[in-house]
Amino acid sequence: MNERFGMEEGIRRKVLVVDDEQVNRKLLGMIIGRKYDVIYAESGVQAMSLIRRNVKTISLVMLDLLMPEKDGYEVLKEMRESDELKMIPVIVLTSEKSAEVKSLQLGAADFISKPYDMPEVILARVSRSIELAESYKMLNRTEHDSLTGLYSRDFFMEYCERLDSFYPEKQMDAVAVDINRFHVINELHGRAYGDRVVKETAICMGGIAAREGGLAGRSGVDCFLMYIPHRDDYSDLVAECDTLLETTIPEISVSVRFGIYADADRSLEPERRFDRAKSACGKKKNSRSSTFEFYDTQLYEKEMFDERLISDMETAISEKQFTVYFQPKYDVTGDEPRLSSAEALIRWIHPELGFISPGAFIPLFENNGLIHRLDNFVWNETAATIRMLKEKYGVYVPISVNVSRIDIFDPEFESKLLEIVTKNGLEPKDLLLEITESAYTENSSQIIKAVEKLREGGFRIEMDDFGTGYSSLNMLSALPIDALKLDMRFVRHILENDKDLRMVKLVIDIAKYLEVPVIAEGVEKKEQYELLKESGCDVIQGYYFSRPLPPDDFEKLVIKEEGKVC
Ligand code: C2E
Ligand code: CA
Ligand code: CA
Repeated sequence: MNERFGMEEGIRRKVLVVDDEQVNRKLLGMIIGRKYDVIYAESGVQAMSLIRRNVKTISLVMLDLLMPEKDGYEVLKEMRESDELKMIPVIVLTSEKSAEVKSLQLGAADFISKPYDMPEVILARVSRSIELAESYKMLNRTEHDSLTGLYSRDFFMEYCERLDSFYPEKQMDAVAVDINRFHVINELHGRAYGDRVVKETAICMGGIAAREGGLAGRSGVDCFLMYIPHRDDYSDLVAECDTLLETTIPEISVSVRFGIYADADRSLEPERRFDRAKSACGKKKNSRSSTFEFYDTQLYEKEMFDERLISDMETAISEKQFTVYFQPKYDVTGDEPRLSSAEALIRWIHPELGFISPGAFIPLFENNGLIHRLDNFVWNETAATIRMLKEKYGVYVPISVNVSRIDIFDPEFESKLLEIVTKNGLEPKDLLLEITESAYTENSSQIIKAVEKLREGGFRIEMDDFGTGYSSLNMLSALPIDALKLDMRFVRHILENDKDLRMVKLVIDIAKYLEVPVIAEGVEKKEQYELLKESGCDVIQGYYFSRPLPPDDFEKLVIKEEGKVC
């Protein structure tokens, strides 16, 4: 079919011979086996299953009419009922003239009479039927892109599938190639010149694909597709393109970028495979020289996972897959540690994905605004818990919630909080707000204003992850905060690393200067606790005292600690 970049040359088409008599199958196989790959079925049932499994690769069916169980007529009828199967031409094998009309009505393409005494005629009729069917298929479709002569997109995809079926074991790469800054070339030099660049690039792609034993196609104005056997390195192909384009278009610099989805997964439709190649290509969008980029499967899987979490979030809330856990914080300024408050930490137990860490979904929900929904849920649950503890046991335990920087920019942030607090018969000071230090440094004036307003309304603010946001001392003294929460990183190594211990002491000094208490979190060992207490830390949170607890366990802990609550 295609002489230039074709996959068709050298590929033998497949013919299915269906006959219940072995001698007939053998005879036909010998005749047409000279030119075609032959597969056999000895019954109508077996034929249908083979046809369905090989619909993309069978070019012709030679069908005996008289067979036990499912006969040839039934096979014809079934094939005619399917849009896909009816495109496969069928030659009926019969010794009865009368059967011809009926088969014709059922869509047979031709007849061959038994006995098979003229092999050349049989072969010629088979060839003719295949050619006719293929031309018919092409009639309304353009196989080649008119400008470049490469396969047009649809054909390219179809041939990729065919190539796969002929070489099922071969590792293949899906490659998308874009011309860098093509629109600029087009605008500066005109469309005709742009066409020339496209044509030269196409010649390069076609040449590579033909040499490598693959296919090349065009998709969109300046995007080319190649489906070629797998290779680990593409630098030589990119360099080859560069040299070719330099020679054929010496006046301006034209460069290309390759996006490669290596060892493409065959279970995906070809379109999906090339989507991946294109997404890799897009990563190098701004490059000005020829380059290539591999598609990263892990990254893609992460993107898919993220998408899943986003789409499952609403259901998760309504189906109560989220639970708010509470991790106690202990005041260690006295002789005995005393439960002083707790931190609310969200947990998502997904029915299929299992436990999902907040680190996986919080940043995601911050990016698309879903965090408002989730945090609202957490604030409500937390306020309800504080109220329950008060009403049921007469114990007052303030609990802190994590406030995302996105929440702070919500104009209704404060009114929402106030509504929740009031609804539960609480005061703003009962619901502590943790705001990460980097939020202040990233957008200081706006955040400071918002936080000042919250404090005026009676809310207390703890600066979370302190030590990661690089606040200046000047800025710190102006910040409206009620506690500093030392980032876990400093706590982790205080026992082994002197520098970290010095940092912790420095933060404690700063806190003293600001007249606010210091909370250390991530405290896992007794020695860490003792060292922190000795250094002047006021509050400790961490596995040493307790892991974050589900509501019931937290309630039990509160009852147990009742006498010792601050
Ligand atoms: P964070 O606010 O810094 O929370 C402290 C994290 O340290 C929690 O992780 C907690 O489970 C963990 N942790 C506590 N004690 C220890 C310890 O002794 N050792 C170690 N290795 N880890 C300890 P978690 O629950 O996975 O939360 C991660 C982050 O997700 C939180 O960091 C917070 O930024 C965010 N987050 C959690 N829940 C919420 C929420 O309801 N809303 C918002 N906006 N963010 C949340
Ligand atoms: Ca926190
Ligand atoms: Ca923290």
